Amino acid sequence: MKNQTEITGGRRQRIILFPLPYQGHINPMLQLANLLYSKGFTITILHTNFNKPKTSNYPHFTFRFILDNDPHDERYSNLPLQGMGAFSRIFLFNQEGADQLRHQLELELSQKDEPPVSCLITDALWHFAQSVADRLSLPRLVLRTSSLFCFIVYASIPLLADLGYLDCSNNKHPEEQVVEFPMLKVKDIIKTGFKRDGNAIEEVIDNMVKQAKASSGIIWNSFKELEEPELETILRDIPAPSFLIPFPKHFTSSSSSLLEQDRTFFPWLDQQPPNSVVYVSFGSVAQVDEEHFMEIAHGLVDCKESFLWVVRPGFVNGSTWIEPLPDGFVGERGRIVKWAPQQEVLAHEAIGAFWTHSGWNSTFESVCEGVPMICSPFWGDQPLDARYMSDVAKVGVYLENGWEREEISKAIRRVIVDEDIRERARVLKQKLDASLSKGGSSYESVESLVAYISSL
Ligand code: UDP
Repeated sequence: MKNQTEITGGRRQRIILFPLPYQGHINPMLQLANLLYSKGFTITILHTNFNKPKTSNYPHFTFRFILDNDPHDERYSNLPLQGMGAFSRIFLFNQEGADQLRHQLELELSQKDEPPVSCLITDALWHFAQSVADRLSLPRLVLRTSSLFCFIVYASIPLLADLGYLDCSNNKHPEEQVVEFPMLKVKDIIKTGFKRDGNAIEEVIDNMVKQAKASSGIIWNSFKELEEPELETILRDIPAPSFLIPFPKHFTSSSSSLLEQDRTFFPWLDQQPPNSVVYVSFGSVAQVDEEHFMEIAHGLVDCKESFLWVVRPGFVNGSTWIEPLPDGFVGERGRIVKWAPQQEVLAHEAIGAFWTHSGWNSTFESVCEGVPMICSPFWGDQPLDARYMSDVAKVGVYLENGWEREEISKAIRRVIVDEDIRERARVLKQKLDASLSKGGSSYESVESLVAYISSL
């Protein structure tokens, strides 16, 4: 009955959510949308036509398409659809999207037949949305889809640049510790790829940090017990409230998948012994060249463990899919698919390790299921996540020296057989599960987010 009252009351308010149109950003935003809907809010999603999720999976939401509606507008229609070039939308829309966003929000705010809008929640990387929301006196919260630790390091990029950490040619040794972040090595900072040479990505990161700090609140896909010292720093440095919510524990991201998910391997997976299969996936964007792809393949075959490997079409530079692999190369122990329902796979009892690119969603989904990791980061937040999982949480092994078959095999075997690392992953999952019960940190975070939005 109480629930009913809450929902009847809550449905009087509407929330507009605006994700960044990439898989690793759409998933947590739509999980958040589902969570807020379950708490009684009406949901409107603003989205680009580019990478739009399957709206039929969300009949309970209203979708509005903005920013790239005009097929003749060459600013948008000529942008690449694949690879790193697809990210150019982030720069462009941040520069040029304000008028369109304001126009759409004005329309939403004037709708008489819809519940009143209590706030806008955008991806933190849509930094341009803050001034638009301010002009309309609409509170804007942000969803930050990486860890708190990553945010703190990103906020320190100007300082790290001044200290010479971003410059590969300086005299700091790659293995040296970063004084300001003792858990990091110099090479971790270099691997983020930030250069401080007036590049658009650094500008976006600086603005993201600045406008997240100016927002009415920050929602994180994490939990207190995982990042307690980082949370203290955030609470000390940022006046806006922070809400740490472990989204994969509330909803799976299957319904927002942009690619078709293969499920044909489940009968095979069901037959494998517990904790025996390595799940391998490097996310929705990363690419390798053929030489490294073959090292990965050899490392997997040589380790003599069973594996389920997601090779996204386009993952191998210059190949459509897995053409570089000779027929029968993976043998009986391996299965290769183009895309999988990842959370469901990680939750399967046969999975004993996750070899990941350390994107935050993948990392956190692994934490949520208590699966230890082998970490092979590419850029951005990934080297920071990899270091944190291997050296701080100690639930992963960081493959620090790139793609080399023997090291790969050794790392996989180590994670599969090392009882200590498995136990730490299990304990971390237990802490997370406990945080979800009434009175726990994650439970309270959801409650306070709902109360906060309701009060706006
Ligand atoms: N994912 C999936 N199936 C796959 C591989 C990945 O559903 O076969 C999902 C995964 O569960 C995660 C997202 O894609 O939610 C990838 O996000 P992440 O932050 O890990 O990496 P990104 O793709 O942004 O580099």
